[in-house]
Amino acid sequence: MSTEALLSARKLTKRFGGLAAVQDVTLDLWRERIHAVIGPNGAGKSTLTNLLSGDIAPSTGTVALGGRDVTGWSPERISRAGLGRSYQKTNIFLPFTVWENIRLAAQSRTPHALRWLTLADSVGAANERAERALELAGLQHRRGHVAAASSHGEQRQLEIAMTLATGPQVLLLDEPLAGMGTAEAERMVQLLLRLKKEHAIMLVEHDMDAVFTLADHLTVMVNGQVIASGTPAQVRADANVQSAYLGE
Ligand code: ADP
Ligand code: MG
Repeated sequence: MSTEALLSARKLTKRFGGLAAVQDVTLDLWRERIHAVIGPNGAGKSTLTNLLSGDIAPSTGTVALGGRDVTGWSPERISRAGLGRSYQKTNIFLPFTVWENIRLAAQSRTPHALRWLTLADSVGAANERAERALELAGLQHRRGHVAAASSHGEQRQLEIAMTLATGPQVLLLDEPLAGMGTAEAERMVQLLLRLKKEHAIMLVEHDMDAVFTLADHLTVMVNGQVIASGTPAQVRADANVQSAYLGE
């Protein structure tokens, strides 16, 4: 196993006018570990996710992926370099089946410039990625079902399957348990534990039971800044966190 973090962010800052939505955030993501990021609304969690995925460029600071500096790269290029993210807003194409959605996502991995080639090779590889994603996400039994007919929980599983189909090493998940009932949330927790075996995961999540079940490392953000970072036990014991966020 590599001793190098798959993703390393160093002193990331993003200013919107006078507001520092993210300020001096440093964080590492490692294979087989879930790094949870928590904090109240407006803390900067989504902005941080967008900075790591290339959806927005940092004002200052750097992001490295697999040891390569990817700061300023486009989201498409960062995605091809091995970073997958799910969006709070869904990318699912509702009239298509579960399989078709996953298969389309797998195809998007192929660089635009090469798509016209449609080599048997790349088609085969995309099929394989899609099959594995379907299986990992536990959606085999829904394969031929139209996405619109899927439950909320299954649609969130589908979003993750679509992200997996691009073949990422690093996964950024923004509130995958949002709006779920107990049974759905439990299914998602089990899915995240399966994904952890092969990926480095950053998990932005409000569900504290899930966070404390899943997280190997926990970072707490308030007003764009990291106020605590460590194991869940360390963070829980931190006096700053208790007064600023956990409200204990
Ligand atoms: P969180 O995801 O933790 O709720 P966000 O990252 O969405 O927080 O937002 C952090 C802060 O940055 C908030 O004050 C928000 O209003 C502000 N913000 C986020 N995106 C923009 C933007 N595109 N333009 C201006 N302000 C923004
Ligand atoms: Mg957010």
